[in-house]
Amino acid sequence: MANTRAYAATSPTSGMAPYSFDRRALRPDDVAIEIDYCGVCHSDLHTVENDWGGSQYPVVPGHEIIGRVTAVGQDVTRYQPGDLVGVGCMVDSCRTCSACDSGLEQYCIEGSTMTYGSLDRHDGTVTHGGYSENIVVSDRFVVRVPENLDPASAAPLLCAGITTYSPLKHFKVGKGHKVGVLGMGGLGHMGVKLAKAMGAEVTIFTRSESKVAEAKKQGADHVIISTDKAQMKAAADSFDFLLDTIPVAHDLNPYLKCLKYDGTHILVGLLTPVEPALQAGLLVTKRRVVAGSLIGGMPETQEMLDFCAEHNITCDVEMLDIRNINEAYERLKKSDVKYRFVIDMDTLKQG
Ligand code: NDP
Repeated sequence: MANTRAYAATSPTSGMAPYSFDRRALRPDDVAIEIDYCGVCHSDLHTVENDWGGSQYPVVPGHEIIGRVTAVGQDVTRYQPGDLVGVGCMVDSCRTCSACDSGLEQYCIEGSTMTYGSLDRHDGTVTHGGYSENIVVSDRFVVRVPENLDPASAAPLLCAGITTYSPLKHFKVGKGHKVGVLGMGGLGHMGVKLAKAMGAEVTIFTRSESKVAEAKKQGADHVIISTDKAQMKAAADSFDFLLDTIPVAHDLNPYLKCLKYDGTHILVGLLTPVEPALQAGLLVTKRRVVAGSLIGGMPETQEMLDFCAEHNITCDVEMLDIRNINEAYERLKKSDVKYRFVIDMDTLKQG
């Protein structure tokens, strides 16, 4: 057991504050990692504030983790001390169901164990995430980070990267496709970079005029201001895919009209009910599809990191001193981040 300094929320309204707890002793298949960087995902904020219900307090968030291996259990052969590795949103699953067998641990039939706020399936303790000095994770849920990626700006790939890569791959997005990305935040800006690298023509839908120039710099071919009815109307029937990263309930109907026949609207941002209701006619009359997608499995997460290393793709990040995490959450609520906060964990170790 190792005592670990961290930041935690103790209730939906407590804010984040210093906290410490014991990480478990190594099991035979475990890897111990000293955390260098951890991205700040909107899911951290949803969980801290209990937006989805069921948050287990204290919550130590963080599932975009990069660091160096410090020790391995006796059965671990893939990693050794010093390796640069990452941990994303999951730390365990049943490992035997059809989903796990297919490397789709995120769809584990028994339910995967999330990096924070889940019950460990062996000892029943609540898992704690990456806003902490170190973490202990079974080797199946650890990925190797290519050394040519800058580790701070690669950290958000562990969630924002894989959550956008996985549906783009699943739906075989490529050359000749027109893809719209809804919301230019952590996930959205990665969606733009990845869809472009896969060969698609990419449009970002944003409410923020101020993001237009940066969207183009990140590779977007076009930008649509989603609050401008004329621009939305001009986009009717033109997209093969929409990748929707908007984190709150929003009207899908104006976006559905932008899909061609047989087009697919992929939800990744919304986990609560769709409001206002979908107009079924928009689906029926053009055979349009509304789909959802959850992070990505472990083999695909490694594939995504290797793809990013090959195409030189990382996130645009703002480095964060962990002592400023509450202010960072306030800015995240206002969509005022360019485009992902990443905590420099030295600020925890020093503080
Ligand atoms: P961010 O806050 O970084 O980005 C979301 C973007 O959505 C904002 O930048 C903004 O873009 C747009 N947006 C925000 N509020 C509204 C609104 N009221 N109406 C319209 N657009 C809005 O969040 P993340 O990218 O970190 O996460 C996005 C969502 O994805 C979260 O809900 C998160 O929990 C979820 N998520 C889902 C995963 C999955 O596996 N499916 C995995 C990880 C996260 P703009 O200013 O351009 O309009």
